[in-house]
Amino acid sequence: MLVNLLDVLTSEGKKRIARVPVALEQAAYGGAVYPITNSSEAEFVFTNIGMNKVLIEGQVEALLEIPCDRCLQAVAVPLELQFTYRAVLSEEMPEFEAKEAAEEGILYVEGGQLDVEELIFHEIILNLPSKVLCAEDCKGICRECGQNLNEKECGCDTFIPDPRMAAVKDIFYTHKEV
Ligand SMILES: [Zn+2]
Ligand SMILES: [Zn+2]
Repeated sequence: MLVNLLDVLTSEGKKRIARVPVALEQAAYGGAVYPITNSSEAEFVFTNIGMNKVLIEGQVEALLEIPCDRCLQAVAVPLELQFTYRAVLSEEMPEFEAKEAAEEGILYVEGGQLDVEELIFHEIILNLPSKVLCAEDCKGICRECGQNLNEKECGCDTFIPDPRMAAVKDIFYTHKEV
């Protein structure tokens, strides 16, 4: 949804509070697609901070489905996003500044229209958890047959001797022989 910020951009001291429905059904990133099963309305406070700039303070909750790092089962991950940007009309953007602007949280909005989904998508990607587990003790999937080991044991022989244990054993046998 587009929110028109023109009035706030152009009137000194103006402040507007808005609740905006978020129409985001998935977040596609880095070759993966994460379904968004539930997202709340985004709450925004737009404040004119002078010089045709608007301070955007926003928050939204979204429930994402992200595969478990070990067994790949979908895990519902709630994200509570809170963010702050400053918006300026894109007509005022000097081209060479585009990259620096993104890093400093400056948004250039075309025609004063803020694209809410684009903003929230960006926030979701920034806040994706680096590790997702369905349970702390998730057993993962069998490397041999692909069985989800949380559901049942497959009986494959996946024993890999621990090289550190092997070293201890060597010492043990050496002592025995002496
Ligand atoms: Zn798992
Ligand atoms: Zn197996």
